Amino acid sequence: MINKKQLLENQLFQNRYIKPNISWYFSHLNGKRGIARIFKVPYAALMKKFYLKKYFEKRVLEGKVDIPYLELVLTTRCTLRCESCNNLMQYFSPSNQYTCTLEGIIESLELLLSKVDSIARVRIIGGEPLLFKDLPQLIDYLDTQKKILTFDILTNATIDFKEDLILKFKKSRKARKISISDYRKSPNLKIPLKQESILSKLKQNNIAFSYNTIDYWYDIDKIYKRGRSKEDIIKNYYNCQMSCVSLMTSEGLENKQLAPKGAVFVCPISSSLSRLKGLEEFDGDFLNLEDSKERFFEFYSQDFYKSCDYCRDFSQPIKKIPIAIQTDKVLKLEKY
Ligand code: SF4
Ligand code: SF4
Repeated sequence: MINKKQLLENQLFQNRYIKPNISWYFSHLNGKRGIARIFKVPYAALMKKFYLKKYFEKRVLEGKVDIPYLELVLTTRCTLRCESCNNLMQYFSPSNQYTCTLEGIIESLELLLSKVDSIARVRIIGGEPLLFKDLPQLIDYLDTQKKILTFDILTNATIDFKEDLILKFKKSRKARKISISDYRKSPNLKIPLKQESILSKLKQNNIAFSYNTIDYWYDIDKIYKRGRSKEDIIKNYYNCQMSCVSLMTSEGLENKQLAPKGAVFVCPISSSLSRLKGLEEFDGDFLNLEDSKERFFEFYSQDFYKSCDYCRDFSQPIKKIPIAIQTDKVLKLEKY
């Protein structure tokens, strides 16, 4: 049984769980839909200073699980093949791709929602999530879940938004925004972007969006098992501390006994690695959705993940590279 008072003294748990929950509620209260727009006092700032930390810590002591952020990985298929994709799409071939079914992702979410008390922010990702044919139905489902507070979607803008999807976002009470990655500066993009059409539809329908234009990416380096010691793997995690906890169903896995109905992983690299090498290879890294509520707290205070051995050394400076360099090759999980 986990000692929750000790858990609250754990700095990693504070950083990964308590602080992101506080930040989300602060930005929610302070945002366009927040109460701050009604009151003249800086309501959100006062809440943050005097209340939110105590509030979330009390909920932990009561055994309530509030997930601050969760990425739903719908597919590892993408319309692009970026050599430095953070979600490892460049390592998937047509024969080992993952795409969940609507029923499968809903089954995983139902199980997750039966264990947790809230999820502040869900982000729908891929690969390219618009390749998931039942996206409008998934939005309907997310919209009706009381414990899910908001969601958004990340797209590379290579697939135009159909009418039904636009309508779903327009009517949704929980959709925060559409996040569009701007890949115009890619040196060798092979397919046309549909940004103009998408942006015009979003503006016409008054749907919130963010348009993420950046000048360079960071090189994630090759992904392969480095064979570091346990201490060095833990150090690598502390130097990275990526906050993108991601959920995948276990559909299509040869051996799914370790998480028959899906799992939550520390980051999308970890979830993709479990697809490429099997769940057994990463036993202990993920949260089996059939686990007890206690395991959720444990997961957020865990600092050893076998997948962190596959990443570059996060203590070293990172190289800047052009954005979204495309590759034709399926990369292998080995040193080149
Ligand atoms: S667009 Fe590029 S970075 Fe984004 S998911 Fe596809 S391959 Fe990865
Ligand atoms: S696998 Fe570990 S080191 Fe790599 S990105 Fe994820 S959390 Fe960071």
